[in-house]
Amino acid sequence: MTARIIDGAALAKSVRAGVADHTAELLKRQGIKPGLAVVLVGENPASQVYVRNKSRACEEVGFQSYTQKLPATATEVELLGLIAELNENPQVHGILVQLPLPPDINESSVINAIHPIKDVDGFHPVNAGRLASGLMSLVPCTPQGCMMLIREVLPDMRGKKALVVGRSNIVGKPVAMMLLQADCTVTVAHSRTRDLPEECRQADILIAAIGKPEFIRGDWIKPGAVVIDVGINRVPAADGKTKLVGDVAFAEAVERAGAITPVPGGVGPMTIACLLQNTLQATMMQSGWA
Ligand code: NDP
Repeated sequence: MTARIIDGAALAKSVRAGVADHTAELLKRQGIKPGLAVVLVGENPASQVYVRNKSRACEEVGFQSYTQKLPATATEVELLGLIAELNENPQVHGILVQLPLPPDINESSVINAIHPIKDVDGFHPVNAGRLASGLMSLVPCTPQGCMMLIREVLPDMRGKKALVVGRSNIVGKPVAMMLLQADCTVTVAHSRTRDLPEECRQADILIAAIGKPEFIRGDWIKPGAVVIDVGINRVPAADGKTKLVGDVAFAEAVERAGAITPVPGGVGPMTIACLLQNTLQATMMQSGWA
């Protein structure tokens, strides 16, 4: 059996088109234009690329994007001051602070300073708590993208066994909460899990969010399972350059899984699409429309 490849790029494109339509409608009917502020501290080249991509994606769907750059020498107090201003600014409906931050700045303090209603990354403890309690909230983008990709091939997940490998606050834990809400029976594995291959073999839905190239082997996968590969790992390629691979050994897994996301072109494109969707949702919430 060869797995169905779940096309994250195509799904992301349709999500973005939906956001663009709603945004045009919001502007026409209410005169409201969603605004996203992306804060970048320092000169990390990868972060600069991410910030540029986010700002471009905002413009494509009709949002106003505000890129706020602080030097690598900026203090935590300065960053918190900027966030306080953005919290008060009615043109800004979403605030995203690009991680990682320089080592002298406490990440939790910064995340906690963003008003939960503008927390489009969904990392604020209020939003994490609301998600865990099954209440409406702004939910983290990558896990939201994972759920949409699963629904493409498995609209009804009730009773399915789901295994999440990885327990980070940005991927593993929130996606586990979402799977639980979709009535899956959820297991969360991590670096101390005993016999990970056996845990994987039980899973109808397998989410890999580890950060280790091709760690999950094909023969760990239950035949017919839905496999969502969140990992993004840069490894040497045969031509002396580098290439991106996921946390799952794709060439092996594709022979056993029922459906699988590729890397690149799977979860990655969904993350920005869901950020746009969250910004639209935050705008609606702040305007009394959601
Ligand atoms: P973290 O490093 O925060 O978490 C990794 C998790 O994997 C930890 O919970 C860790 O366990 C677990 N782990 C590590 N080694 C093993 C092992 N041998 N067996 C089982 N579990 C293990 O990573 P993130 O959650 O931030 O990201 C995971 C991957 O997803 C990365 O490749 C990242 O680049 C990618 N990513 C992709 C995104 C996208 O848009 N596609 C967005 C965000 C992340 P423990 O807690 O015990 O240490």
